[in-house]
Amino acid sequence: QAKLNGGNQFLFYQAEMNAESKEQLMLENDLRKALDRNEIEVYYQPQIDGHSLKPYGAEALVRWKHPTEGTISPGVFIPMAESNGMIVNIGRFVLENAIKEAENWHANGFDEMRIAVNLSGRQFSSSNLIKEVQEVLQNTTLPAKYLDLEITESLAMSNADHNISILKGLKAMGVSLSIDDFGTGYSSLAYLHSFPIDAIKIDRSFIDNLESQEGQAIVRTILAMADSLSLKVVAEGIEEEFHVSFLQNKNCDIFQGFMFGKPMPADEFQQYLKSQKTP
Ligand code: C2E
Ligand code: MG
Ligand code: MG
Ligand code: MG
Repeated sequence: QAKLNGGNQFLFYQAEMNAESKEQLMLENDLRKALDRNEIEVYYQPQIDGHSLKPYGAEALVRWKHPTEGTISPGVFIPMAESNGMIVNIGRFVLENAIKEAENWHANGFDEMRIAVNLSGRQFSSSNLIKEVQEVLQNTTLPAKYLDLEITESLAMSNADHNISILKGLKAMGVSLSIDDFGTGYSSLAYLHSFPIDAIKIDRSFIDNLESQEGQAIVRTILAMADSLSLKVVAEGIEEEFHVSFLQNKNCDIFQGFMFGKPMPADEFQQYLKSQKTP
């Protein structure tokens, strides 16, 4: 577009392009090769049963080990991967690896462990998603019911009617469905009720606010609403003992946060699991 306005403006635009956007372009270019170069890795963060405080499952969280920039967080490269289409391959890679890893846990005696995988907007709107999940489930001994697929509340609520039909297709395969970052996406209760979901994940900003009376009231309200809709609740961002006692007291089902463990590489997560096993 800048070019249409004449060569001078194009040059001007180039000169104005700041270091940050140059870096973005370089990263985006590198991202196209990252999978082939084995730079994409899946980390696992524990999810804890709120009643027994024992491991309940894990969330798969993708990392990019860039050869010169170090580890790049998904908050940076997932949006890039969404815009250049790489998310399709990365998403498939995460799903396959996460399920393989959960299969390992089950083979090693942790046979109730669940695995949660995030879906992005582009994956979700692709007509291939259901077929893809089907394929991955056909190639594993892990029963479908141990797979939790997460979509964010804002994604779920944009084009809700269309999404509900995709979610129903996924649900029919026996997987579980969760609404991620709940509370940040303005769902209407009426819509939430018509979604074939099993759980909501309270966004960590609400857990962060549990010190205030108002923050407590909000979390109490979310828990009561989930209860009345028979949805499980996962609380994200548990960092303090106080969060645990508050949420346990309100019968929150599942806890996830640095207090119980940060996202870690697969081998480290296996060590973690073994260390949690009570004889
Ligand atoms: P999310 O799905 O809501 O994942 C939770 C994020 O909160 C993770 O950040 C996790 O490391 C962080 N977290 C967990 N517990 C705590 C805590 O106690 N304190 C704090 N401060 N943070 C905590 P991460 O790994 O950087 O991922 C960020 C987001 O990137 C994820 O948010 C998810 O939306 C997206 N993402 C990650 N992996 C994937 C993936 O494989 N596919 C897609 N589409 N998106 C992904
Ligand atoms: Mg998530
Ligand atoms: Mg979240
Ligand atoms: Mg409950």
